[in-house]
Amino acid sequence: MSLLKTKVSRRKFLGLTSGALASTLVMSNFGVLKKVGASEEKGNSKYGRKFVPSTCAICVNKCGFIAEVDNGVIRKINPNPKFFKSRAMICARGNAGAKVPYDPDRLKKPLIRVGKRGEGKWKEVSWEEAYDYIVDNVVKLVRKYKNRSTIAFASTEGFQEEYFIDLANIIGTTNTVRHPTLCLASNIQGYSSVFGTFPDADIANAEFVIIAGSNRAEAIVTPDTIDMAKNHRKQTLIYIDPRATKTTALADKWYPIKPGTDLALVLAMIHVIIKENLYDKEFVEKYTYGFDKLAEHVKQYTPEWAEKETEIPASEIYWLAREFAKHAPRSIWYPGRRSSFYANDVYYRRACAILNAICGAWDRPGGLIPKSKIPLRKYEIEFPIFDWTRDRIDAGKVPFLGDVLPEEDKTDAGLPTDSCQYLSEKDGSWILFREAILKGVPYPVKGLFVYKQNPVESVPNRKKTLQMLEQMEFICTIDVAMSDTAWYSDVVLPESTYLERWDPVHSLNGVVPIAVMRQPVIEPLFDTKSMFEIMCNLAHKFMERKDFWEDTSEEDLEMFKETCLKRLTKNPVKDFAKYQVSKYPGAFEQLLKEGVFYLSDKPKYGKTLKDGFRFKTRTGKIELYNVKYEEKGLHPLPVYTRHTDPKPGQFRFVVGRHGQFTHASTQNNPWLLEAYGDKENAVWINAKVAAKMGIKAGDKVKVKSPVGEQIVKALPTEYIRPDVVFYVHGFGRLSKGLSNIYRVGASDAEIIVDYMESISGNAAMHETFVTIEKI
Ligand code: SF4
Repeated sequence: MSLLKTKVSRRKFLGLTSGALASTLVMSNFGVLKKVGASEEKGNSKYGRKFVPSTCAICVNKCGFIAEVDNGVIRKINPNPKFFKSRAMICARGNAGAKVPYDPDRLKKPLIRVGKRGEGKWKEVSWEEAYDYIVDNVVKLVRKYKNRSTIAFASTEGFQEEYFIDLANIIGTTNTVRHPTLCLASNIQGYSSVFGTFPDADIANAEFVIIAGSNRAEAIVTPDTIDMAKNHRKQTLIYIDPRATKTTALADKWYPIKPGTDLALVLAMIHVIIKENLYDKEFVEKYTYGFDKLAEHVKQYTPEWAEKETEIPASEIYWLAREFAKHAPRSIWYPGRRSSFYANDVYYRRACAILNAICGAWDRPGGLIPKSKIPLRKYEIEFPIFDWTRDRIDAGKVPFLGDVLPEEDKTDAGLPTDSCQYLSEKDGSWILFREAILKGVPYPVKGLFVYKQNPVESVPNRKKTLQMLEQMEFICTIDVAMSDTAWYSDVVLPESTYLERWDPVHSLNGVVPIAVMRQPVIEPLFDTKSMFEIMCNLAHKFMERKDFWEDTSEEDLEMFKETCLKRLTKNPVKDFAKYQVSKYPGAFEQLLKEGVFYLSDKPKYGKTLKDGFRFKTRTGKIELYNVKYEEKGLHPLPVYTRHTDPKPGQFRFVVGRHGQFTHASTQNNPWLLEAYGDKENAVWINAKVAAKMGIKAGDKVKVKSPVGEQIVKALPTEYIRPDVVFYVHGFGRLSKGLSNIYRVGASDAEIIVDYMESISGNAAMHETFVTIEKI
């Protein structure tokens, strides 16, 4: 069945998942915590002092907080101790969220471009004018190309993202591209190919934890980082990364592995565990499929072989394997989140899942755990079926797939070069999506809506993104600040911040699920609207245009009016939130008062280990050998591909987290810049290598890759391998609307080559080689 057919037959409301990401720890003012639950001190007006529980939106962790509001002004954001995932802590970025509504760089009114794209000339308009402008342009494009999919939608996760996707469904496009292929798509694919689901890790109860390339201590504050810190004395933590990060400081051992060889290490550990009979035989026999084929396959991957690949001594690999098996099932190879590293990331993540599986470290205390959730009610919406909707541009056979694969992956047996077969329909693949638009294949995409995402800074190879924007006949960006993408748009709609609006209830799925929502902490300060209001207003504006609905039936249109216009757009988000939890008496009141709702604060283990349970795989078992991969022409077991080494004078460029920054969204925050300790980023280069090149701290250097170059300060350090360089993401920006970071420091989007993981469609951001030149 084609994706189009799937889409058309599945006309229901598209549910969205939420996930986890990014920071450093700031202990909060515990004095304030006593006031939790007491929502205010002086009446219920916006005047006086009050404490409002809500949910952070600065990263995907969505920590609960209590905002302290004085005479309508946010004074401080404190952690919510009832949000047990964060163990009564909140990170620097969460604290600095208090600055967001008052940021002088905030968008305050709708804007329509009057100069050339990127020139920065705008006129302020009313919301009515902005809506009319948008509807006129969309209708014009849809009719011109007789194709609704000529309008594309790009977004990143958030509590209101589902309303943005609703707008895409109202317009009738299939082309929605979300953030996973810049983040965790390979991870989801790899773990799901073994367990049928992407699990959580029961770090709190684990004894032996291996983390590779996931800088948890800076990326995300809760709950895992807290547990790692708390468990330090009773837990062995192994950290593997070519760069020493703050997570290294928590670890018992740090291995600065040769980049791109993590799969070799995992395969060699599996080899040892099977060869020495250290695996959990009973578990393997009862719950897994394909063990014999796996055992045969990994015979080739000895620790001695892996030593040459990884530069980790074979003796250490034996030790890691034996310790992992000894502590199982309380052992974890930590899944982490971002997996946009290499072109073989799916096989690497499959191998990590297999390592846990053969040791029986699944659905038991201290192992990998299938995520639980709190079921919520939702509206069933019937969107119209349109004749002019076409299959999405980045699906199925992709004639140019070979153009975005690194050389070694084009020839690797088992990897397809013309189809990205496991692409998620609702998430798409950013690299393929942009390439298809640039090449006009299979049809022109000429309109773009962007919500909360900033592809100019987030997608590798910035020049290509700018070319893609240049090709568009219409671009609308919805954001709280003038992102680089907004800067190149035709119309910019200012969104209310997460501190000024209602957001629906979300279940944060995990070992112990918890439900949260957002309520306004303060009144909106400017002429802004939430994504929900924007969607509703545009839906009604589109209804007024008779020429927009000619390719759908009367019956469909009536159904849409009944279910979407009357149900979704007529009920404020607050009412929807109440409806979502209506099967749990008192839940909404609890969310209002305490900011959280949960059914239990204890993990539940073993539901997938009960007799008769079927895993969501072809065989219904944990698939060490993946049957579907075999059918699709992929290798059913994880195969190792040797990566190209940098040539003399070249370095591998890697990206990673920093405690003050979430993606490209918080660098302009003055509090976080101050906490970062510098106004710009600097390239980490090994101190000995820098000395040989005559580069000193603070010298300006040119970092050059096959797709671009940037000038940046040098930071010679012992904390990075000699063959690797790194700098913090999100500087060197193109938007003059980001006054603290416009053209300050270096952008990594400018230099990272747009290579891709061929199975998941995930960007492969660590496949770029650069040269460094002192200037
Ligand atoms: S980890 Fe920090 S930024 Fe992320 S949700 Fe929690 S407080 Fe906010």
